[in-house]
Amino acid sequence: MADLSGLAAALVDGSVEVIDLTSPLHSGTPILGLPPEFGQTATFQLELISEYDEKGPAWYWNNFHTGEHTGTHFDAPNHWITGKDLDDVSQVPAQRLIGPAVVIDTTAQVAANPDFCLDVSDIKEWEAANGAIPKGAWLLYRTGWSKYGDDPAAYANADANGPHTPGLTPAAARYLAEETEILGMGVETVGTDAGGAFGFDPPFPCHTMLMGANKYGVTQLRNLHRLPVTGAVVIVAPLPIVKGSGSPCRVLALVNK
Ligand code: MN
Repeated sequence: MADLSGLAAALVDGSVEVIDLTSPLHSGTPILGLPPEFGQTATFQLELISEYDEKGPAWYWNNFHTGEHTGTHFDAPNHWITGKDLDDVSQVPAQRLIGPAVVIDTTAQVAANPDFCLDVSDIKEWEAANGAIPKGAWLLYRTGWSKYGDDPAAYANADANGPHTPGLTPAAARYLAEETEILGMGVETVGTDAGGAFGFDPPFPCHTMLMGANKYGVTQLRNLHRLPVTGAVVIVAPLPIVKGSGSPCRVLALVNK
C-alpha cells in the first residue's frame, strides 16, 4: 500500500514538485501537416461566447474547436489501423494513465542530426546503465525538440523531402511494442514517429507497432530536461471522448525535490 498521506503532505510542502510537461494550447500551437491528398487536422481555436458583456454580463466563456491530435495530446490504440479493435480514448483504463517515467536522452545526437532515430542498441545501452524499463512505465524520449515548440516552421523543419524531426527506427518501435510492458511513449515532437517515417518499412512504425500492442502515444511534451532519468511519476489526462482516437491532454510529472 502506498503512503498517500505522505504524498499529499509532500505536495503541500513542496518536497514533491509537480512539473507541467504540457505545451500551452492556442491558435499558434504547431500541428501535424500531412501531404495534401490526405485529410488534415485542425488548429486550436477559441470562439468567444461572452466576456462580461450583453451576451453574459457577469461571465466569460468560450467554445473551442480543435483536432483530437492537436498540441500535447494522447494517441489511443484505435488511432491506428493496427489497433482499430482496441480501446478508444474513453475506454482506456484510468489505471493505465499513470506510471513511473523513464527518460532516454538523445538531445546531443538530435542536435547533430535532426533525423536521428533511437535504435534498439540505444535502448539496451540505457537499460544496461539504468536497469530494465519497468512494467507500466511511460517511456519519455527526450530530444530537445521542444525548444522549437513556439515556432511552427522550425518545429516541422520541413524541406522539399518533408519534415526532418527525430523518432525511432522500426526495430526500436518493435522492441518497445513487443519486448517491454510500457504504457506508451511520450515525445517532444508533433507525433511519436520521425518526420521521415512515411518512408520507413513499415511506414510510421511507432504508430503501427505501439497502437497495435495496446500501447499509447503522447506528444509535444516540454520540460523533460527537468526530470530525473528514473524516479518521476507521470500522469497523462486525456478527455474521455466517446469513440475518440485521442485527445489534447494535460501531462504532469511528480518529482522528488
Ligand atoms: Mn496523434
